[in-house]
Amino acid sequence: MKRVVFLLLLLVLFFSSCRVIEPVGKTEFVLGTVCTISVYDNTKKASQAIDEVFAALKELEKKLSANDESSMISRINKYAYSRDVSADEETAFILKKAMEYAEKSGGAFDPAIGAIVKLWNIGTEDARVPSENEIEKLLLSADYQNINIRETSIRLLNPDTRIDLGAIAKGYASDIARDILKKNGITRAIIDLGGNIYAMGKRPTGEEWRIGIQDPRGDKGIYIGIVHVSDMAVVTSGDYERFFTVNGKRYHHIIDPTSGYPAENGLLSVSVISKSGIDADALSTTLFVLGADKGKDFIKKYAKDAEAVFITTDRRIITTDGLKDILDITTTNYQLGK
Ligand code: AMP
Ligand code: MG
Repeated sequence: MKRVVFLLLLLVLFFSSCRVIEPVGKTEFVLGTVCTISVYDNTKKASQAIDEVFAALKELEKKLSANDESSMISRINKYAYSRDVSADEETAFILKKAMEYAEKSGGAFDPAIGAIVKLWNIGTEDARVPSENEIEKLLLSADYQNINIRETSIRLLNPDTRIDLGAIAKGYASDIARDILKKNGITRAIIDLGGNIYAMGKRPTGEEWRIGIQDPRGDKGIYIGIVHVSDMAVVTSGDYERFFTVNGKRYHHIIDPTSGYPAENGLLSVSVISKSGIDADALSTTLFVLGADKGKDFIKKYAKDAEAVFITTDRRIITTDGLKDILDITTTNYQLGK
């Protein structure tokens, strides 16, 4: 009898250890995109922690949305040419980070790009190719040197300058989401803010998370490869994320501030892997505008801890050295290149 009970106990233990942990997850439309938080810890606090994350994301949206007229950014855009506008600490922090990337990249990354972004309206129903004249009129405004920030006080030096933090906000938000989950005792989660991923901890099996790198010319969910990561942000900037086509030409949402037109530096996409979401997001946009060669130099000089995958228009995949061990390339549509 004792033996039977023992065997039964073993069986129960065996099957319970095999059970796949179903994540507790939630999806909402916030920060202008579809956001999903999936928690893989076996804890009652998961739902409450996820709700706390979404509440924080909504607060952030209220500050940073360029489309919401009452947001902090809209207030700065409206009034900061005629007077100093005092921002909250968080908005000032993100703007300062954006300004750092603008300075380091010589304006390839530029938070003053707002007026040009609005002109194109890419990603909305009103997207259109502006006239050269329209672009020329606003091009001088799209220069980060028109943004003056001291402590939390902001002044715009050109009447047409509009701040746009769309290239950095979701990365920052993923850091905030991670911190809130952590504070609630969560150790394993996937934070997905419209493709800006933060992979927290490890999978319930103890292995690293496997994050797919989208094939920029494949259907959604078709990957060029998989990165194996834990406690890392994986962020992609690509010409396939938001674009429209006119006469067979693709116009995408990442603007080269020197021309006012979508950046054309031989790239289809750049993915960045970094411990910091805000840096991964700012970096992926920066590298996309700089192109692969200058982009690799930028990483060597300013972002030694980050790794990047560049996918080029001539169908090559170029990676930083540190990626070799963590990226499995699964595609045959691209060649490994230098
Ligand atoms: P991401 O998808 O992170 O690369 O960010 C792209 C978004 O950032 C665009 O939709 C614009 O709102 C904004 N943006 C476009 N071009 C630039 C640029 N050169 N520097 C900074 N932000 C940009
Ligand atoms: Mg970005």
